[in-house]
Amino acid sequence: MTKDQIKFLKAIVQTPSPSGYEKSVRKLIKARMKTCCDKVQVDVMGNTIGILNPKADFRVMLAGHCDEIGLMVQNVTEEGYIYFNAIGGVDPALLPGMRVFIHSAKGDVPGVIGSKAIHMQRYEKGDKGTTQIHQLWIDIGAKSKKDVQKVVEIGDCATIDAGYLELKNNLIAARGLDDRCGAFVVTEVLRMLSKEKKLKIGVYGVATTQEEVGLRGATTGAYNVNPDVGITVEVCHASDFPTMNKNIVGDIKVGKGPSISRGPDTNPILCKLVQKTAKTSRIPHQMLASSRPGGTDTAVMQLTRGGVATVLISVPNRYMHSPVEVISLRDLENTAKLVAKTVLALKPNQNFVD
Ligand SMILES: [Zn+2]
Repeated sequence: MTKDQIKFLKAIVQTPSPSGYEKSVRKLIKARMKTCCDKVQVDVMGNTIGILNPKADFRVMLAGHCDEIGLMVQNVTEEGYIYFNAIGGVDPALLPGMRVFIHSAKGDVPGVIGSKAIHMQRYEKGDKGTTQIHQLWIDIGAKSKKDVQKVVEIGDCATIDAGYLELKNNLIAARGLDDRCGAFVVTEVLRMLSKEKKLKIGVYGVATTQEEVGLRGATTGAYNVNPDVGITVEVCHASDFPTMNKNIVGDIKVGKGPSISRGPDTNPILCKLVQKTAKTSRIPHQMLASSRPGGTDTAVMQLTRGGVATVLISVPNRYMHSPVEVISLRDLENTAKLVAKTVLALKPNQNFVD
């Protein structure tokens, strides 16, 4: 990846964007789309749509969600402790002892999620068991409820302070790589395709919103774009670390290329086209069986209006929905390549009925 690409990736990864609070990350994506697209729109749901060839009849929609899971301020106690709820699939067991930022109108307010010392826990048998989110609180160092209210409002969102970390062998760790990877790939594919003079189809790259709380941005976004073909760029569960059972989740390794999903969410002809494109372009890839539809933006794109030919291409991800999600930059690069090549392989008025 180029220095410029890494800079953009870092910027979107480090910008908080819990579902419903995507404004800051949207600004970055919009600015980048503007450097290459014929048109850039933001709709009422906050989806950012970069368009190439807006006049073409045959349209392909690329969806990568720019929201992440997060926390939301629910209640403040008289003592000045802040109770919160989850935005999306947060694992409460990972939260005690974490540093957080509450993103308020006054700026980013630092805090910590309190955790009772192990010394104290030993004597209280009742404390054992699964942590529930309503048992946890954020401490911003405030003296009282009033002191909190000076900087934090009910309904402010918060994120864990876990930035971009470079690991060995081109791997990186961060929170919210699900699905900044997708938003990054969609934006980069628009940049790659904007240089193609022979592009015959309309390309609508959408950084969708509110995926983590029910695929909501893609639902209205797909209705609006009304595509013939939909390609979702997501992260998938890698199974190359201890405790994962390949017989249940499949054999997916970080660094071995994007996964191409097969299943009810995917159009078989389009899926074959992606596989063929990967082979002819010599892009490493892995096949992933997805027997249960509905978990990603693919599902809502597929079910838009009279139905859309969709496919799901994913970046293998370890420790999804944790503050230390791990992906390979090489996989990210190959995912962008595969999506761009697939779009170029599409013919206007292509048939997807077998
Ligand atoms: Zn996702």
